[in-house]
Order: sequence, then structure tokens, then C-alpha cells
Amino acid sequence: IDDAEAARLAADFPALDQEVNGHRLAYLDSGATSQKPSAVLDAERDFYEHHNAAVHRGAHTLAALATERFEDARAKVAGFIGADIDEVVWTSGATEALNLIAYGISNASAGLGGEAAKRFAIGAGDVIVTTEGEHHANLIPWQELAARTGATLRVIPILDDATLDMEAAAALITPEVKLVAFTHVSNVSAVINPVSELVALARAADALVVLDACQSVPHMGVNVRELDVDFAAFSGHKMLGPTGIGVLYGRSELLNALPPFLTGGSMITTVTLEKAEYLPAPQRFEAGTQQVAQAIGLAAAIDYLDAVGLDRIHEREAELGARMYRGAAAIPGIRVLGPSEAALRSGVVALDVEGVHAHDVGQYLDDRGIAIRVGHHCAQPLHRRLGVTASTRISPYFYNTTAEIDAVIEALGEVRAYFGLAD
Ligand code: PMP
Repeated sequence: IDDAEAARLAADFPALDQEVNGHRLAYLDSGATSQKPSAVLDAERDFYEHHNAAVHRGAHTLAALATERFEDARAKVAGFIGADIDEVVWTSGATEALNLIAYGISNASAGLGGEAAKRFAIGAGDVIVTTEGEHHANLIPWQELAARTGATLRVIPILDDATLDMEAAAALITPEVKLVAFTHVSNVSAVINPVSELVALARAADALVVLDACQSVPHMGVNVRELDVDFAAFSGHKMLGPTGIGVLYGRSELLNALPPFLTGGSMITTVTLEKAEYLPAPQRFEAGTQQVAQAIGLAAAIDYLDAVGLDRIHEREAELGARMYRGAAAIPGIRVLGPSEAALRSGVVALDVEGVHAHDVGQYLDDRGIAIRVGHHCAQPLHRRLGVTASTRISPYFYNTTAEIDAVIEALGEVRAYFGLAD
């Protein structure tokens, strides 16, 4: 993807075509949420205009059409990540998907899991492992699960360049470990974690593997079968899809053994006044009226991503990220977080401007129409470890141009002088 193609693709995204503070918007906050192409907006609108009905319930024609499109969307997601259809559970987002696993496991520990109890039984003496580089969504659910079950939480530390301390990982993932949860790609340091090495350590301990794929699925080809993880979670809104829809992938046999997190309508076979029998996965996890339009919008997003090509998207972002990294690292007083080796990084660049609070940096860039994210990006322990309380994060997507990256570099070069700091 070159600049000409990026500009052509950007024209598919209505929100990118606007002025902010008198400048053409340069949207570089796709790590938080991506913009949406017209194809996704049209798919949602088309659903509401022509097929809107509750799925898996009515016998009428619209209900059948809505159900068909909803299940087609599931099949599309499954194909996109190399899973079987019944291994894709709709959630409201990655946060809910990760909590679904954690609450399901504690229900299993409480004896409700039947056969599942073996794999999911976590209690005193057992260990859950996560890392210092996680988004809070892949840290707090495990803290809470440990607190509910009496298990211990161990945290794999990161090194100064934010890569995982793999020697420590090998020492921490002992036979008592029941679950290892880690992110595929960091939303701050850009680190791409060594999934296969971590999976091998977890397998040797017979532990479950949970992958936070929020920052990988939108940006590179991800095949859950090849990665050999047990569960994976990601959000639709970061991959051109609507808000309010996310995905939990789980191995079929594990999903069918995991107790549900939410109970109610649409997830049962038989209900008496005393008890209920649950449907198999994925329906057992989909209580209540589902986010049908959002699922259909996500399917349109996947069509769009497939048409552009995930490999080309990945390559383009690597180029934009490397350009951003080089430009920022060359500015006196700026420290880029994460590793310097390009092969270890995604396209995200988070940095610290010495002497200037990230919020002031964000304001300076916003005045120039540049949208980036500032703060701790829901990763306080990671920032603390790297010695900063907040950072400025530039997260490009394939629709960004090198001119936009250069505009950020130029503005960053001015920031310290603007706030009265000498080089
Ligand atoms: N994990 C990572 C790595 C993320 O970047 C995010 C979103 N910032 C999440 C989890 C949570 O995703 P959501 O807010 O869409 O549930």
C-alpha cells in the first residue's frame, strides 16, 4: 500500500473527511478505535431497513433472514481467524470476552462445571499467570479470579525495552500454573509477544492459554489454530466494525465445558422452576437479545479487510510505524517506549516528551488537527515499570499517509520549545 492507495482507501471512511481546528483531520488513534468505512455503515443500515428482527426466535420470514445473516457473520469471523463456527462467541467486546472466561472458571470451581471442573478447577495452591505489559482488561479479571478462588497471581515482568523477560517466564510457569493470559501485541509498547514460546511453556504445565488479540487481529493475519491458543478475545470496533460487538474464540470442547457467565433467554434447552439445561456453545454464552446489526457490520468490516489484505495492511503499518519511530527518536528530549528492533514492534509508537505532560502534547497536536491518544492507555503497571505515568501514543492504520506521520513528527519537534524547554 503506497500513499496514493492509502488516500484512495481513506476516501471510503466518511469520518476521515473532515476538518478539525481548521486542519484536515489526521486520525492516528486507531489503536483506541478505528474509523468505519461506508460499507460497514451501509451494512448496518441495510439490516435495519430490510431484515431487522430478533434472531433464533420468531418463525416469521424477517426473523429467519436476520438469523441467517447473524450466523453468516459468525461464519465470516470464524473463517477470518481459522476457527470453527461454534467456537465463535459474540460478546460486547474484548473486555466482556475476558471476563466471561474468568467468571466461567470461577463458576466451574464452585462445582457447577461438571466434567469441566478438571480443566477449570482453580483454587488455593493453583497459579494464574499474566504479564506486566497487559491492558487492564487482561489483568484485572485475573486478579479478581485469583481473589475469588484463592489462587495466586504471578506476573511475568517486562524488561527495560518492554519485551517480556522470557527467562522469568520459564521460571514462573511451573506445574501449579492453571492458566496463562497474555497479549499478542501491546497497545502501548508495540511489542509483539513470542506466542509460540509462551504457549510451549503453558503446554508443558498443562495450563490453559488466553490470548488478548485486540491489537493483532485488526492488523495482521491471525490464525488461532496455528497459534494453538485455547481462548482469544478481540473487539470489533478496532477492526473497522461497530462498537458493542466483540469476539471470544474458545476451543469447542472447552467452551462446551465452561459454565455460562450470563444466564437468561435464548441460551437454554429446558427450563423448570427449579433449574435450566443450557444449549451447547456458542449459544450458552449468548443470553438475551443479541447485537445483530453490529455482528453484520463486523462481517462487512472483515470483507473490507480481506479485500485490502491483512498481509498488505501489516506491511504498510510496519512502514508507517518505523517512519514514526525514526522521526520521533531523532527529536531531542523524546523517548520512544518499547524495543528499537523493528521486527519486535507493531505500528504503534508511544513516547514520552521530557518535561511536557502527555495531555499538553495531545492538546498541541489536536490544535493542528492531529488525533492521537494520551494517558496511561489502560496499562498503568506497564507505564510504571517504564518510569512514566503517561505517554503520547500514535497508532496508525492502513488508511494513514506518510504525510500525516511527517506532520506528527514536525509538531512533536516543536512541542518542547513551545512549552519553553530548550533542546
Ligand atoms: N486489550 C488490549 C490490548 C486493548 O488495546 C484493548 C482496547 N484498548 C482492550 C484489551 C479492551 O478492548 P475493549 O475496550 O474493546 O473491550
